Amino acid sequence: MSKLKPFFNFLLELFGFKRNSKYVKAYLNEANIKSSIYMSSIIIVLEIWMIIRQIREYIIPGIDNFQAPYTSNLDFIFGFMSFYVLFIVCSIAIIIFAITFLKKSNSKALFIANIIIASICILWPFLLFAEHIVGTDINRITTILLYASMPLLGASILAHTIYRRKYRVNNTVLSMIIIICFALVCLLFGIKVGYSDFISKSRPKMITCFLTMIIFVACLLIWKPYISILILSGVFMLFYYFLDTYPNREFLDGDKINYITFLISLTMIAISIYQQRVAEAKKDELLIYEANHDHLTNITNVKFITSTVKVYYDNKDKIFLFLNLTNFRAINEHRGFDGGNEFLINFAKKIEETFSKDLIARQSDDHFVVYTSINTFEEKINRLDEIVKELADGLFVLLKVGGYKPKKDEDPNRAIDKARYACGIIKHEYGVLYREYDDEMDEAFNKRQYIINHIDEAIEKGWIVAYYQPVVWSKNHELCGAEALARWIDPTHGFLSPADFIPVLENTRLIHKLDKAIINYVCKNLRESLDSDRPIVPVSLNFSRLDFELMDVKKELEDAILKYNIDRNYIHVEITESALSSNVETLSKTVASLKNDGYAIWLDDFGSGYSSLNVLKDFVFDVIKIDMKFLSNFEHNDKTKDIIDCIIQLATKLGMKTLTEGVETKEQSKFLEDVGCGRLQGYLYGKPFKLAEFEEKIENGTFKISKKIL
Ligand code: C2E
Ligand code: CA
Ligand code: CA
Repeated sequence: MSKLKPFFNFLLELFGFKRNSKYVKAYLNEANIKSSIYMSSIIIVLEIWMIIRQIREYIIPGIDNFQAPYTSNLDFIFGFMSFYVLFIVCSIAIIIFAITFLKKSNSKALFIANIIIASICILWPFLLFAEHIVGTDINRITTILLYASMPLLGASILAHTIYRRKYRVNNTVLSMIIIICFALVCLLFGIKVGYSDFISKSRPKMITCFLTMIIFVACLLIWKPYISILILSGVFMLFYYFLDTYPNREFLDGDKINYITFLISLTMIAISIYQQRVAEAKKDELLIYEANHDHLTNITNVKFITSTVKVYYDNKDKIFLFLNLTNFRAINEHRGFDGGNEFLINFAKKIEETFSKDLIARQSDDHFVVYTSINTFEEKINRLDEIVKELADGLFVLLKVGGYKPKKDEDPNRAIDKARYACGIIKHEYGVLYREYDDEMDEAFNKRQYIINHIDEAIEKGWIVAYYQPVVWSKNHELCGAEALARWIDPTHGFLSPADFIPVLENTRLIHKLDKAIINYVCKNLRESLDSDRPIVPVSLNFSRLDFELMDVKKELEDAILKYNIDRNYIHVEITESALSSNVETLSKTVASLKNDGYAIWLDDFGSGYSSLNVLKDFVFDVIKIDMKFLSNFEHNDKTKDIIDCIIQLATKLGMKTLTEGVETKEQSKFLEDVGCGRLQGYLYGKPFKLAEFEEKIENGTFKISKKIL
């Protein structure tokens, strides 16, 4: 029995009894609509040709060497001629409908054209009178059926036109009915004309028109195989009966065999075309599925949401949710990469269950997006919060959700970005699950967008400059260097500090553009000062971790110092320790080669990260900059002093010089001098200044340049 099952399945599939997916149905339907355009165009040309022939024969009988099948003038006009016109009208209706269907935009002209042609089809039986048709009973029956199918066609086109006007999308069922009506007209026409030809004295047994129409309907249009078999055998049998029973005309045996063989071949062709089209559709469907789904969790992706969501935009009760799992790294660390994946797959399943009627997506990593109703989501995210705790099973992973209600016609990608922004705000707020995007965030968000969109322009137009903050010797407080700190002086937003733009540029991987600009700005400044005989001090430049991924730091530095002819001694490279704790290998190579070339390498923000001591083990720095956080509670915490003292001793022992940042008071300065910290930097000696101000302070003696600056 079980062996029979695959065979049985094969048969079901072969004859088209298996249900097709929505996509395959739509695909086949669209293919049919395209074919019907070709069919209609051929029909129009053929029928016009037929009409011309009939008219010529009517005016000069015998000219075309055939006997026209009418018996009176009335019959000429209302008889055969009217069928040709009917067929042309039907074909025009199909072409107009098909163009409307295939076109993505909704044009007014097409809407009106559809209404007019549909109305003509509906009124057709009233425009021409069937009683005028003479002929046999079969002729009469097909005539009545033909006349009846016109209003059916017209009504379904009308319904589809109205539906599309209202919902701005096509309706598959209505369009299928339209194609069926069209097929019906073709078949009836084929039977009628074929039969008339067969009984006509001048062209006995000419049934070509019938066969042509059968091929048209069965092979150019695609039906499920069992429907094709039904149509073909039904129509063939009917016609066979007509031919066989018609008096005074013999249906020869040989013709009968050919007739049956023709039926069988046509059925096979129809089935094979169907199978081929379905295979194409399935392949296409798979590609689309892959493009719209996340490979890991198999739920839809953001692209799918953004393309689908536009249709629902009128709905005021909708909200975008951005879901983020914080500290997800813990799962990967404890359960391995596969364990992490399993967590995400399970979580995605739960989101799908919880928001079963909504659009959901995995954006990337542990980020998910949901488009749902504003009325029910809160209870649902609470449930998901519980689920995350269950899945985490003791590990410290938390769900954070940001929400944003999109405005009418707002770009869904931007709306998701806003929900994400709201989610980011609560990333480090313990115990807070959800935050909705508000006006305050909107201001910050827009600023962020502005920065992303204008970084190139800002660099090009010189809105980005470096300010210089003095660095002094602790012994005599004489100037020994300056740190270049970026500032963005914007024509619309005014003064922007690094806190506004550095994190944004880092998050969007654009930071290298800024740092490249600062390198050039600083080197250019140094050259200008040298050229006008103003004194200069070495400048330290800040580099982000990403700079080493996004650009060739060494090349950029070399290009700038060669262009402006600056001594390498005048450039210090500041790298933060967090930069060094990630991809150690590539970075250590770059750092070593920079050092080799003669640049001093300074370790920035020492003590602010997790791996400070490790970094000291792996790299050799010229100067260690002790993070200003150490000084923040200098007065209140005695341990601070011991820690700073130890760091300085440790650095000295490892052969590195030291600098403490954020020196604001004389006590701090005194202490640092006492414990042997070489360089100091902070508001006590000066804030970051514009170049002109900085130079002026050197000139007027506020900053005294040390003799020993290198
Ligand atoms: P950082 O490299 O640690 O720079 C020192 C920051 O501390 C500067 O802030 C400076 O103005 C501030 N500061 C200096 N002395 C004192 C003080 O006595 N007290 C206090 N409270 N603060 C002091 P700024 O200029 O806002 O820069 C912030 C951060 O932005 C910098 O921290 C650096 O990480 C980053 N940054 C600045 N310019 C650039 C740049 O050109 N490229 C890159 N990649 N990052 C930059
Ligand atoms: Ca720095
Ligand atoms: Ca620093």
